[in-house]
Amino acid sequence: MLGGTPPAYVGRVPRRGLVPSHRGPAGRFTRYNSYVATRKSNLAKTKCALCGAKEVSEPRGEERYCRDCWEKKIAVEEIVAREFALKRYIRAHSAEKYLVYHSTIKRPCGQIIVVDDGYDLFLTMVLYPNFGWEEAAYHLEGDPEGRTFAEILVDVVATEVIEPWGGGKWHLEIFRSANPEPENWNGEM
Ligand SMILES: [Zn+2]
Repeated sequence: MLGGTPPAYVGRVPRRGLVPSHRGPAGRFTRYNSYVATRKSNLAKTKCALCGAKEVSEPRGEERYCRDCWEKKIAVEEIVAREFALKRYIRAHSAEKYLVYHSTIKRPCGQIIVVDDGYDLFLTMVLYPNFGWEEAAYHLEGDPEGRTFAEILVDVVATEVIEPWGGGKWHLEIFRSANPEPENWNGEM
């Protein structure tokens, strides 16, 4: 996923995770809810992938989990996400640069460049090979849908970088660096 042609995340927030609008209470997406309600009445009830007991209700539009298990999954993802720290070291009028740290290693494991052209945000994420970006970020018994650390980092960036810039349309490209870690800048690192 992260080699060769960079995956394009254009103008969308991650499918689920830390972005508050994804976790809103039932009823927030009025139009969507009515669609889901209509569709549900035509389908056989499906049991939650995690507990296998309750009926699915989350996430909206692609229900696979019951409310309780979904909230548990989101809580686990939030804990995993907090292991990342984004440290801004360049702040310009229309651009920023961050180093990405993970609690398990001392050296930075990635960097993020944000450019605002006045209309859209353009983000470039560089991931260093000193961290297991493609590893599953957590394991839940029976979960059909795991997430990698790289995917969790996209959530973190949406929350800590994109939202403070005011949201709006944004574009994200992810590159893998061949260098083991960021070069030193001015001996500050
Ligand atoms: Zn469940």
